[in-house]
Amino acid sequence: MIYERMDCRLCGCPVQTVLELTPTPIANDFPPAPNSGEKYPLGLKQCGNCLHVQIGHVLSDKMLYSPKYKYQTPAALKPQMDARAHILRFQFNDARNVLEIGANNGLFLDSLKKAGFSNTLGVDPSSIHPEVWGVPFDADCAKSVEKRLGKVDLVIANNVFAHIDDLRPVFEAVESILSDDGCLVFEVQYLVPMMDSGAFDMIYHEHRDYHTIGPLQPFLRSVGLIMVNWERFDATAGQYGYSLKSGGMRLPRPRKKRTGTCLQKLLHCTRKSRYPKLMARFPLLAHRPRQRP
Ligand SMILES: [Zn+2]
Repeated sequence: MIYERMDCRLCGCPVQTVLELTPTPIANDFPPAPNSGEKYPLGLKQCGNCLHVQIGHVLSDKMLYSPKYKYQTPAALKPQMDARAHILRFQFNDARNVLEIGANNGLFLDSLKKAGFSNTLGVDPSSIHPEVWGVPFDADCAKSVEKRLGKVDLVIANNVFAHIDDLRPVFEAVESILSDDGCLVFEVQYLVPMMDSGAFDMIYHEHRDYHTIGPLQPFLRSVGLIMVNWERFDATAGQYGYSLKSGGMRLPRPRKKRTGTCLQKLLHCTRKSRYPKLMARFPLLAHRPRQRP
């Protein structure tokens, strides 16, 4: 199933098209013959209210994550993951129960164990790893996790929250299983460097959201989480190479103040003027904008 989503995934307000690329096949699908994959509309829409950016046409999970789905977290990232797990161990020294959402092939779970987290669990609908539950994370899954682990001190989700069509129930489910001092730490691809570097190849159907801090903060607050920290870092070798890491903590923890200058600079990226600039860089790829009545 494919549908054109006309409401913002974060605040529910109307969205409008800001970038259109040529129709494109599913990125991680490998058809038997070259160029034989079916093509689907590809473009970005932006919310008129909170300025969140998301994919225009949503392909169903069944289409994107069929049994033929091939993506696995590459082993080349293991040293980086080990280092990341040790930092988390330092930051969350008291965390006992740890859940990873989107654990894929279990590579980061191994890093977490190596760093000293003993009570870990992973979930991922496409996983075949023996220690990763092969289910999507939702309210039912959260209840099962709670039965198995009890309340969770640390929930980790790396490059997951750009892939989910209905984000709110997932964040609500996370909030429901966090312990009183529990924390959610997640990484997502960040819109700013993607636009600055012209990395149009990061726009594909699996990436349903292109997050920035501005729209995320009120959304997180609305599900009972607040952002207590964020940082940009070089996630992988590649031209988009920056991600946002943020931690959510259950209310009513006080919010840490951030410098207005940095935040305003990041928010600037969501201004619509950036999109024609990107389209101008790739005139052969950009579609003629739709005629509006
Ligand atoms: Zn919105």
